[in-house]
Amino acid sequence: MRIVFMGPPGAGKGTQAKIICSDVGIPQISTGEILRHAMESGSDLGKEAKSYVESGGLVPDAVVIGIVKERIQEPDCVKGYLLDGFPRTLDQADALKRMTEELGKPLDVALNLAVPQDELVKRLLDRAQKEGRPDDTEPVIKSRLKTYEEQTLPLVDYYKKEGILKEVDGLGSMEDITARIKSALGI
Ligand code: AMP
Repeated sequence: MRIVFMGPPGAGKGTQAKIICSDVGIPQISTGEILRHAMESGSDLGKEAKSYVESGGLVPDAVVIGIVKERIQEPDCVKGYLLDGFPRTLDQADALKRMTEELGKPLDVALNLAVPQDELVKRLLDRAQKEGRPDDTEPVIKSRLKTYEEQTLPLVDYYKKEGILKEVDGLGSMEDITARIKSALGI
């Protein structure tokens, strides 16, 4: 199964993605995690991504599209994959559509985890204290939410038009949300 997992920062995407991936037996491809590892290792990719990630903006499309294009062709993606945090712009979504069609393996589902804005700020500040992610400070959180609304939210309509959108309510206990996601995915 090839899944795009969408939702605003702080919606709990990463946590749920891990659970779904281990249940289905597919890899979780998180562009945010790939970029954070690159930044920690000080690679060229990390150096290029740093200023964008730290300000809460988006890393240029060409960079993340290149990462995903290579990653989804690795052997562990034969049975499928879950994209967590990609695509985040319409150009990324178009590129993904093209590359999956070229590979003859189109996306099966785009799942949107919906959470109201005020709940998101609360969750993100809470995560900042627990995990100490460098982009979880209040000004950067606000900037990430704004980036999300302006550039990523239009993807919900995009996938609705593609006919593969599933919407899931992201409020409630972790277990309840997992159950809703599984039911939406039919697993
Ligand atoms: P995440 O862990 O998904 O919240 O991503 C953390 C940060 O990495 C984002 O705020 C962006 O700066 C960058 N990033 C992750 N995925 C993408 C993407 N698909 N396009 C552009 N930038 C991204």
